[in-house]
Amino acid sequence: MIEKYSRQELFVPIGAEGQQRIREAKVFVLGAGALGSSGAEMLVRAGVGELTIVDRDILEWTNLHRQQLYAEQDVVDQLPKAIAAERRLRAINGDVKIRGVVADVTPENVLELVEGHHLVLDGTDNIETRLLANDACLQLGGIPFFMGACVGSYGVTFPIGVAEGQPCLHCLLEALPPQSLTCDTVGVISPIVVTTAARQVAELLKYITGAEMEPRLESTDLWSGERASMNVKNMKKSGCPSCSDQPTFPFLSATEVVRTAVLCGRDTVQLTWPKSRQIELAPFADSVRGTVSNLIHNPFLVSCEYNNHRLVLFRDGRMLVHGTKDVSEARKIAAGLLG
Ligand SMILES: [Zn+2]
Repeated sequence: MIEKYSRQELFVPIGAEGQQRIREAKVFVLGAGALGSSGAEMLVRAGVGELTIVDRDILEWTNLHRQQLYAEQDVVDQLPKAIAAERRLRAINGDVKIRGVVADVTPENVLELVEGHHLVLDGTDNIETRLLANDACLQLGGIPFFMGACVGSYGVTFPIGVAEGQPCLHCLLEALPPQSLTCDTVGVISPIVVTTAARQVAELLKYITGAEMEPRLESTDLWSGERASMNVKNMKKSGCPSCSDQPTFPFLSATEVVRTAVLCGRDTVQLTWPKSRQIELAPFADSVRGTVSNLIHNPFLVSCEYNNHRLVLFRDGRMLVHGTKDVSEARKIAAGLLG
């Protein structure tokens, strides 16, 4: 075994055999924001075999205080997080096969994206995407999903699919803390990001190395010092649409329309065109050059200012319309350029 991991191997519960298992693991990291960035760094340093990190966003100045893979120049360059993350992670550990994917994870693409991985680490910032990942992992034969979420100084973790007969995320929906608070409305401090990601990664490493697992919903508030650890083994719902004997996977049903989402508290609307109606970046950039200002066209996106809004079109057919929370206004602005 490579010298690089000797201190990790010396840790008895891992040992040489555990390190070999870590080496064989293919991990999917859902989101390259705060949790995804912290978690991916730990996994890459630990020496996993392959790591795919997927994110839909580009970097902003407000990300840097807690998203530890990135630096100021990445923001200046308007890099997608998945690309900046891939570059940094490759520099950290050349042993790991790393792939950054710029995409929104949707019912249309989630199975294709996750398939082939052994484990999924949650780094997303919204419950819809978590439930989508929960369904996808179950549909793909029970891929373990290491859920994590944090806001303010409070964080929660829950490993799914790690023990026989345990509940899934859908079963526990009512037991989870309310979703009304977001990092954009009440803020977040980096120590809770690192703490939450550390717990997710510890559970993941325990699972890979064959440790006995207990499905616990753990929560911590670093400011008040409060902690809770709830064994949820008996909270599986018999008729759960996601994990019962005859699941319908309700979060996997896709549509063929332009989907819209207001990005939590960020004054931004996301429009997603279906695969059948994709917009090519280069022709789009050429067609709007005379109409818009501050046009940036790189291999990953086209960004421009139009009618006092910043628009970003990604290669996967998504457009972010910044400066509005109003879906119909966003559609109107996009239509102004796309017809
Ligand atoms: Zn369930």
